[in-house]
Amino acid sequence: MDCLFCKIIKKEIPAEIIFENKDVIAFNDINPIAPVHVLVIPKKHIASVASAAQEDTLLMGELIMTAKKIADDLKISEKGYKLLIRVGKGGGQEVKHIHLHLLGGVKLSENNL
Ligand code: AMP
Repeated sequence: MDCLFCKIIKKEIPAEIIFENKDVIAFNDINPIAPVHVLVIPKKHIASVASAAQEDTLLMGELIMTAKKIADDLKISEKGYKLLIRVGKGGGQEVKHIHLHLLGGVKLSENNL
């Protein structure tokens, strides 16, 4: 399958991977819009939240809990951060493999992010 993020999972293209387990992988966004900009993705190829199935419920929760752990590790939890999932064209989603953006390290409300 010709999916950019599946290639990152298979280590066919490089990424700054900061966390990985059997279900999810997290890496730095190549074009960050905040000092902390990490993408957390499922290893299973799911094109978008719109095409996730009931059986993906736990996996979807794991994306959020992984982002929480990374935020804790990066010590941005106290100040706060934003979790963002774009869904489909109208939602601004460009890469068709579910990804949760973890954005932080800046006061987001003042930057309209
Ligand atoms: P979205 O617009 O929500 O689909 O987000 C796609 C994100 O993937 C953007 O923030 C891109 O900067 C990021 N991105 C695209 N290619 C790469 C890559 N090779 N490594 C890391 N992040 C990427």
